[in-house]
Amino acid sequence: MFRNGNFLKENFSMNFMPNLHLQWIGIRTSLPLPSLTEMLSQIFMYFLMEDYANYWLHRMLHSKWGYENIHRVHHEYTAPNGLAAPYAHWAEIIILGQASFLGPMIVPGHMLTFWIWFIIRQIEAIETHSGYEFPWSPSKLIPFYGGAIYHDYHHYVGEKSQSNFASVFTYCDYIYGTDKGYRYKKEVFLKGRSFDNK
Ligand SMILES: [Zn+2]
Ligand SMILES: [Zn+2]
Repeated sequence: MFRNGNFLKENFSMNFMPNLHLQWIGIRTSLPLPSLTEMLSQIFMYFLMEDYANYWLHRMLHSKWGYENIHRVHHEYTAPNGLAAPYAHWAEIIILGQASFLGPMIVPGHMLTFWIWFIIRQIEAIETHSGYEFPWSPSKLIPFYGGAIYHDYHHYVGEKSQSNFASVFTYCDYIYGTDKGYRYKKEVFLKGRSFDNK
């Protein structure tokens, strides 16, 4: 039961973080509701902060000890599907969950924003693990967005993967040089395809 990430994540965020604690970190629960501009700008900040923290925490989980004792559960799927997104060791849910709470803790907003943030982040994680990258997906409009192919490569390489650690965007892997293998493979693949079309 505790191996299923969903169980712990839902209970961790909803039961272990009761209203009192949320108010204590500055998340308001009263009316008026936040404006659309406030919600969107805060959720954008949450994505940036989560992505950066998640990059380093995920990279730590790829250390020998971290992988063997915690992260290997999430990597049981070498070609993931949407349901594999929250499939992880319970300790990983707590560790990576910290990155998701970072934004609301630093830039607290309304409870509604807090919930919408978690819903969007979960939908994004499901899409990233779905194995499908549709050309009409709205995520295609987001600059530096990783997506399914990007994260598929991380699962495909598996234990030895020192590539594509970021959860949402591609810039961290680019800046810290952990996307070189992926970029090389992509280039070889695209060259091969253009060669086949000749
Ligand atoms: Zn990993
Ligand atoms: Zn994954």
